[in-house]
Amino acid sequence: MVESRLTQPVGTLEPKAERVAFHNARRLGSHVLMTNETGEHAVLSQKDYGRYLAGKIADDDPLAKELVSKEFFRHQLDFQNMAELSAAKNLLEWKGPSVHTVVVTLRCNFKCLYCHASVVDPTRVDKDMSVETAKKTVDLIFESRNPTLMIEFQGGEPLLNWPVIKFIVGYARKKNAQAKRILNFGLISNFSLLEDQHIEFAAQNGVSFCTSLDGPSGVHNKNRVYLGGNTHAQVVANLKKIQDRRKAGLKLDAPNAICTVTRASLPFHREIVDQLVELGIERVQLGPLDPVGFARKSWPQIGITSAEFVEFYAKSLDYLIALNRKGVKAYEKMALIFLIRILEGGHWRFPNADAVCRLAYNHDGSVYTGEDARLLANEGDPFFRIGDVSTSSLPDLLDHPTVRASLFASNLASQPQCSQCAYNPYCSVLPVYNYETQGSLWGQMPSNGWCEKMMGIFDVLFERLQDPASRTVLESWLEYKNR
Ligand code: SF4
Repeated sequence: MVESRLTQPVGTLEPKAERVAFHNARRLGSHVLMTNETGEHAVLSQKDYGRYLAGKIADDDPLAKELVSKEFFRHQLDFQNMAELSAAKNLLEWKGPSVHTVVVTLRCNFKCLYCHASVVDPTRVDKDMSVETAKKTVDLIFESRNPTLMIEFQGGEPLLNWPVIKFIVGYARKKNAQAKRILNFGLISNFSLLEDQHIEFAAQNGVSFCTSLDGPSGVHNKNRVYLGGNTHAQVVANLKKIQDRRKAGLKLDAPNAICTVTRASLPFHREIVDQLVELGIERVQLGPLDPVGFARKSWPQIGITSAEFVEFYAKSLDYLIALNRKGVKAYEKMALIFLIRILEGGHWRFPNADAVCRLAYNHDGSVYTGEDARLLANEGDPFFRIGDVSTSSLPDLLDHPTVRASLFASNLASQPQCSQCAYNPYCSVLPVYNYETQGSLWGQMPSNGWCEKMMGIFDVLFERLQDPASRTVLESWLEYKNR
């Protein structure tokens, strides 16, 4: 059970209803953060916040201009502006799922301690996706009207079913000659089987690589067990090879690496960041390990509390900011996603990406509301299975009762604690996580580990945004948003 971290009540004065617009607030050190339904935020000193609540900020007060433009003055609300911002945030412009995770095999040659994938032995070719299923999967993906489609290959180790990856890329490109979408491919691999032919194909077909690198060898090899040798050495060698080929002129996206944060990571925030940066990885991705799927079984061995993750995250972020100030070019992925929401506003009110933004397709053609949902099914609970590529259309999938229930559960306006939380314009809740850890799609945020993590990360980000030097670095990361 994690400690509840309810939004703290701030201010003691009665609001003057005629001047104070609806907002949520949270104390940030000596200041108060205010946010509202349009996603705007303002940070006031406690004294100014008291004046605001008392209705004592006059229209010609230096603060008034900011509060009016951000829709915090009830008597000067711009309803046209609010309606437009609200429409964009309520899925009115939604065109269908964009990210499609295709699991081309459950086979894997690794036995990672936290592997969510419930993998099978490399000899089990019966757990490969067939070309026939792959074709139906691509047909279903193209039913989405989203102008941008990302097909992401996962496993198991996807390179074990390389022919089907090649087929999907070729068939999708052929379909796209007519559909004319922005079509991207990503391949998430442990890199142990990466060969020159894969790199050449990726360069010719616009496939980007992403791998797992948990830090220096001591941390990485502890988490990622491979009977065939030293996994750290292989990943590092292949990342270097890809970077060298790019430097030599090969047109290939920069490779990405995900660091999964476990108990073994906690003492090594500097070494982990250094390892990624030294390999030319600009997108540092610090992923919290969640007690979902297979990781739940190994949780006593490698799990960490939400507070431990937030502390690790804060130290890593500060170190990365310090490196940036010395000229290093790198950013943290989760921070960038949240900074876009905080500083530029783009975020939906149904923020959970599952089903709305992404779908996951298992090797056998069954379709899930997202990757965590599929992993849960691999552990024996198919609750989030919403159809299959042979018999379901996209409207069938999206109209599935589980999708509708998940959408309701992830609407922060109807989550009791979230509706009063200052971070709700930027945050999300995860029905699959709630279901797995608390036994219902809705969960209970006061004791929810995900909520505690999110609240801690937003605290860290908003505090760093108050410091001018850190803010300059964080704002500069917005340049990476379209890469
Ligand atoms: S899940 Fe996010 S929005 Fe909801 S209470 Fe927690 S931090 Fe706030």
